[in-house]
Amino acid sequence: MAERKRELISIIVPCYNEQAAIPFFYKEIDRISQVMKEETDFELLFVDDGSKDGTMAVLRELAANDKRVRYVSFSRNFGKEAAMYAGLENARGDLVAILDADLQDPPSLLPEMYASIKNDGYDSVATRRSTRKGEPKLRSFFARVFYKLMNRISKTELVEGARDFRLMTRQMVDSVLSVCEYNRFTKGIFTWVGYKTRWIEYENVERIAGETKWSFWKLFKYSLECIMAFSTVPLALSSFFGILFSLIAVIGIVFVIVRQAVWGGSAYGWASTVCIILFVAGIQLFCIGILGQYLAKTYLETKKRPIYIAKETEKAIRPDNADAAPNSGGKENL
Ligand code: UDP
Ligand code: MG
Repeated sequence: MAERKRELISIIVPCYNEQAAIPFFYKEIDRISQVMKEETDFELLFVDDGSKDGTMAVLRELAANDKRVRYVSFSRNFGKEAAMYAGLENARGDLVAILDADLQDPPSLLPEMYASIKNDGYDSVATRRSTRKGEPKLRSFFARVFYKLMNRISKTELVEGARDFRLMTRQMVDSVLSVCEYNRFTKGIFTWVGYKTRWIEYENVERIAGETKWSFWKLFKYSLECIMAFSTVPLALSSFFGILFSLIAVIGIVFVIVRQAVWGGSAYGWASTVCIILFVAGIQLFCIGILGQYLAKTYLETKKRPIYIAKETEKAIRPDNADAAPNSGGKENL
């Protein structure tokens, strides 16, 4: 049937305690789907990341009333990275978009993004914030430092202010899924897989309801993870310090020998010796610590644990989900 061939866009929405925001999100995305209904069908794939509030009740109700709504619910909180992976893995669309539930990623950009992929030959349309209005100053400062540092030490370029919000083709989604590492930094993976990407800028929007899940400390730890996932430069620090201190030692030895030969010796300078020993020992421990971090990541990767564990999907309330995927012909559900 010709109708079954209609194109499908999957909208992936990671949700962690978003009961207040989801109704607003749903309303807005429904509006956009009306705007685009001539061109494409929509599938809404909410990923409940182990929410502790009423998110699941809201999702179940939406799924019961609207066949386009699907969900995957995790057995606990696995983090946004895992939620995005689960979304990409379960999406059935020919095109796939990732949006936050809090409307900080404006769905109203979707028609423009869609047009770029369809008409201008892009594989992906990504977004970045041109401003960080409404964000604490200190956070913006550290974010800028992070992007500068990251782009220095990693071959994978990161665009400053880049969001996870993007629309991409099925081919790109499959490529992203083929990167199946456990310690995921999806923004980096998007760049790493390549493809022709258009960047759209927009001004920061404040979240519609609920509150942010990211404390400063959480963000700081996340940025360290990103650095480790996409750069091995920190590992080279120990070599750098090793060479530096060896050079200083050689100069010191020459100095001591010359001093002994010319003026004769006496046993002074022990205080400075202690300082130097402490300093070098500190640097050594610091470098071993870095090594340990990478080793720990390798350890986690070798365990090959699943990235997420799903506890429930929309099939729990709508076993026959054939209508939700107009382009699948229902075969996937057999
Ligand atoms: N999120 C998630 N799991 C988490 C934390 C956040 O799925 O452990 C989702 C959250 O529900 C939201 C998106 O990730 O849809 C972005 O989170 P948030 O708005 O709190 O981050 P911010 O926009 O403040 O950086
Ligand atoms: Mg947000």
